[in-house]
Amino acid sequence: MLLEQKEALLSEAESAMNALPEQTVFPDLGDQASAETDRNFMLRLRGREQRLLNKIEEAVDRIDSGSFGICDSCGDDITIERLKARPVATLCIDCKEEQEEEEKLQGS
Ligand SMILES: [Zn+2]
Repeated sequence: MLLEQKEALLSEAESAMNALPEQTVFPDLGDQASAETDRNFMLRLRGREQRLLNKIEEAVDRIDSGSFGICDSCGDDITIERLKARPVATLCIDCKEEQEEEEKLQGS
């Protein structure tokens, strides 16, 4: 099960890397404002892909170290359903909800 999960993560990482945008060529260089907006969008996208890749690598490390599927916060098993939906999850659903509740209270 874990090996399958790891393979899924690795192929996910691969497709995430393949999905990274190539350097964009702007046909109309006169439209500087639009070009800036597109460039910012690309940079944000790259940042998000990068964070996902980091999370996948961390999940693979957790598989190797035997802590995959264990909640970082309470140490309980994360449910298979949750791991299937979100293989990079590091918190069980209870702790995740608790964390989101705290973030809401902090207004972030
Ligand atoms: Zn937990």
